[in-house]
Amino acid sequence: MQGTGDDRRPRSPDELWAGVVAEVAAMPDVVANILREHRPDERGLCLGSGCGSPGRGEPIIKWPCALYTLAAAADATLRGR
Ligand SMILES: [Zn+2]
Repeated sequence: MQGTGDDRRPRSPDELWAGVVAEVAAMPDVVANILREHRPDERGLCLGSGCGSPGRGEPIIKWPCALYTLAAAADATLRGR
């Protein structure tokens, strides 16, 4: 007989990731925007705003970037329902 309510244990990275994905999935407009903006250029660098170098906005982050990965996971959650 084990009690329940073990909420206070530290959450694993997987659980934290799932929580963030669920939060983003609650905003389908945001997900769609990120997926539209964060595309690779011909060199495979992300063209999304916020992924370029500060100031000039030159793409410097390899695609898929963290934002795109997050949005894609949220999108998969939305479609899976
Ligand atoms: Zn990006």
